[in-house]
Formats: sequence, structure tokens, C-alpha cells
Amino acid sequence: MSTNVVAIVGAGMAGLTAALSLARHGIRSEIVEQAPQLGEVGAGLQISPNASRILRELGILADIEHRWCEPQEIRLTSGVTLGALAAVPVGAFARDRWGAPYGVLHRSTLQQALLSAVLRNPLCKVHLGCRIEKPGDTEIARAIGEQPDLVIGADGVWSRTRARIPGAPKAHFSGNIAWRFTMAGDNAPGFLDPSNVTAFLGPKTHLVCYPLKEIGGFNVVAIAAGLDPGETWSAEGSERQGRMLAEQFSAWHPEIRTLLSNLRGATFWPLYQAGPGRWQNGRDTALIGDAAHAMMPFAAQGAAMAIEDAFELAGLVANTPLPEALATYERVRQMRAARVGRRGAFNRFAYHARGPIRIARDLVLATRSPQSLAADLDWLYGYRAKG
Ligand SMILES: Cc1cc2nc3c(=O)[nH]c(=O)nc-3n(C[C@H](O)[C@H](O)[C@H](O)COP(=O)(O)OP(=O)(O)OC[C@H]3O[C@@H](n4cnc5c(N)ncnc54)[C@H](O)[C@@H]3O)c2cc1C
Repeated sequence: MSTNVVAIVGAGMAGLTAALSLARHGIRSEIVEQAPQLGEVGAGLQISPNASRILRELGILADIEHRWCEPQEIRLTSGVTLGALAAVPVGAFARDRWGAPYGVLHRSTLQQALLSAVLRNPLCKVHLGCRIEKPGDTEIARAIGEQPDLVIGADGVWSRTRARIPGAPKAHFSGNIAWRFTMAGDNAPGFLDPSNVTAFLGPKTHLVCYPLKEIGGFNVVAIAAGLDPGETWSAEGSERQGRMLAEQFSAWHPEIRTLLSNLRGATFWPLYQAGPGRWQNGRDTALIGDAAHAMMPFAAQGAAMAIEDAFELAGLVANTPLPEALATYERVRQMRAARVGRRGAFNRFAYHARGPIRIARDLVLATRSPQSLAADLDWLYGYRAKG
């Protein structure tokens, strides 16, 4: 039996990309989103070539390219001394080596570009302000007005759609907290670099900064070990959280400590990860994006993996009987996400290193050329998702 209509729960990167990817194969989708409108949730995103290649295929890249920045390098810098440790070239190098660009932008720029394309597409329909609480067949059919052939759970780290899949992953707190904020260029200290992504590394902490063209300023993310704040996604940073941040970065360079102590409007993001489990039920449901594999942002790949999942699932569903498509999707994508997860874990170990491990890390990095560091990422950025 062919797949004609798909219900997608969630209109984040995963859900919107899934709708466009299915439409490319002539498959109709109905997206159900709890938010009454899609606003400015989140902050900056790095979009690597493995994902921008798909956005180009879906006709989205042209819409965002003139609004994003293409950094020249991803730099690793000591957060204690501000000394350079290593750099991976991106910019023109990325286009040449991996066949697609590396860009940084506000999350809402990408979400709005995807949403506009979805709204223009007669095969896609969005139901805003509609939360799926118990994702049984009756509630899904009530939400979209018909019984779908397939339900895609693109409803993020707290996914309710997981309840349709016995043995689906569960989310757990990673022990790390991110503080995310943006700042205007004229207020920014001189060590923030408008041409590059900079990851400042320190003991048990790191800080990532990159330019955002949309605001003429910077996106800053500070990540450190923290307390478990319970089931919540983001919240305004409180005074207590501000003190926690200052304590965690107390060994850092004074200029960075000053930046963090003057923070206004930072949002506080406890970082959750999805554990192992099934991503499909062999019949009529699959999970994509954070619902399947919420991961730590140490490799900056969560949204990229959501985009790859959506594109590959659509291709399989269009060309293979559903149970087989779902099984292949799970096998192929779990292998890919596991490899990305291992890279993230490696970055976490290297970024947050202390004492002798930090000294060894710095010595090893000093021997590596930018090209050899880039070659280590061929499997990640050079990946060509099959849609
Ligand atoms: C600090 C930080 C930095 C990051 N940086 C990067 C980066 O640089 N590059 C990168 O690729 N990734 C990055 N990520 C990861 C990335 O943001 C996520 O992996 C990605 O946004 C996940 O997309 P998604 O569509 O799966 O989920 P979400 O974006 O969470 O979307 C889920 C959608 O489902 C809706 N929803 C949820 N439950 C229901 C329900 N019951 N009924 C109806 N609707 C529902 C939600 O409202 C939401 O719109 C970062 C993450 C963090 C925390």
C-alpha cells in the first residue's frame, strides 16, 4: 500500500523539513503544532554542509543565504589565555571540499524560511495551536480531519508521539546547562570575532560565539555543568543562575568573566539527551529529530541531524513499502546519529579538559594543520543524504 497522507507532530526544523521532503515525492502532509505561532524560540544555529546541501535541494538555501554569515574558520581558543589553539577552515573551503556552504544564522530565520515554503506548497498544511496530548489514532485523526497512513513524531525532546512506539527512547538530563544570549555588535568586546565561529575552551566549561547578520551582533552560548531544573526547555535566567554561571567560569580570562557578569536577557537551557530505543513501530509511526535522538550541542549537529532524518525518511517512504521503509530508516539513521553522538562526546571530553589532559590536548592540536582537522570531518560534512 502506498503512503498518501502523513501526520507530522511538531513544526520545528524536523517537522517542516519532513513536510517539504515528502511533498517533493508528491506525498501530502498535515503538520500539527502546539504553538499558536512560530516565534523567536532559541538563538543561533550553525548549519553545516551536510544540512545546507539538503536545504538547497528543497529550495530553501537561496532564501537564507543572503541573511546568514559564512564564517571563514571555526576556531578553538583558550578561554583562560585567549590564545589560539587550532582552526578548521570553512567559508569558501567548505563549499569546495564538501560541496555546500557552512552558515550561521538565527534559528527563527531558518524556521520562517521553511514555514514559508511549507505554506506555499499545496501538499502541506499546518495546524497551529494544536497540541497532541495522547497520540492515539483517534486524537491524531481528530486533529487533522482524517486517518493518516503514517505519523511522524517531530515533537522534540519531550515528544508525546514516542508513546506510539514500544521501547522508544527516554529523555534524561545531561548534567550540563547552556546559557544562550545575543548581543549587539556595538556593545561587543573586541575578542568576539565577526568573521569566525570561536569556541573558547576552559575547565569543565566552554563558550561558543559567532556573528549573526540578522541583529548585526553575536550569538553566545556558554555551557557548563549545572543543576537539574526539571522538565522545562528554556527559561529566563534568574539571579541564582547568573551566580552559577559566574562560579563556573571563575577560572576564565577576565575579559570573558566581565562579559558574562554583564549579561542581560540570557536564557537558561538545561541540556537533555535521548537514550537508546526504537524510532519506529514497524507499522505506522516514526520519530525524527530531537524526538528520536536529542543530543548535546558539542558537535553543533542537532538541527542538521533533524534535517537529514526528515529528508531520508521521506525518500524511503516514497520508494519502499512502509514497514520496510521504517525499518531501513531506523537502521541507517541510528548508525549515523550514533557516530555523530560519539563525535560530540569526544568534543565534550576535549573541550572541557583540565590539568594534564588539557596540556596534552593543546600539544596535539598544535601539531595539526587546519586541512588535516578538516579531513577528520569529511564523513560528517561530506555526507550526502539520500532523499
Ligand atoms: C544550546 C544549543 C545550541 C545548539 N546549536 C546547534 C547548532 O549550532 N546546530 C545544530 O544543528 N543544532 C544545534 N542545536 C540543536 C537544535 O537546536 C535541535 O536539535 C533542533 O532544533 C531540534 O529540532 P526538532 O525539530 O527535532 O525539535 P524542536 O525544535 O524542539 O521542535 C519540536 C516542535 O514540536 C512542537 N511540539 C512539541 N510537543 C508537541 C505536541 N505534543 N503537540 C504538538 N506540537 C508539539 C514544539 O512546539 C516544537 O515546535 C543546539 C541546541 C542547543 C540547546
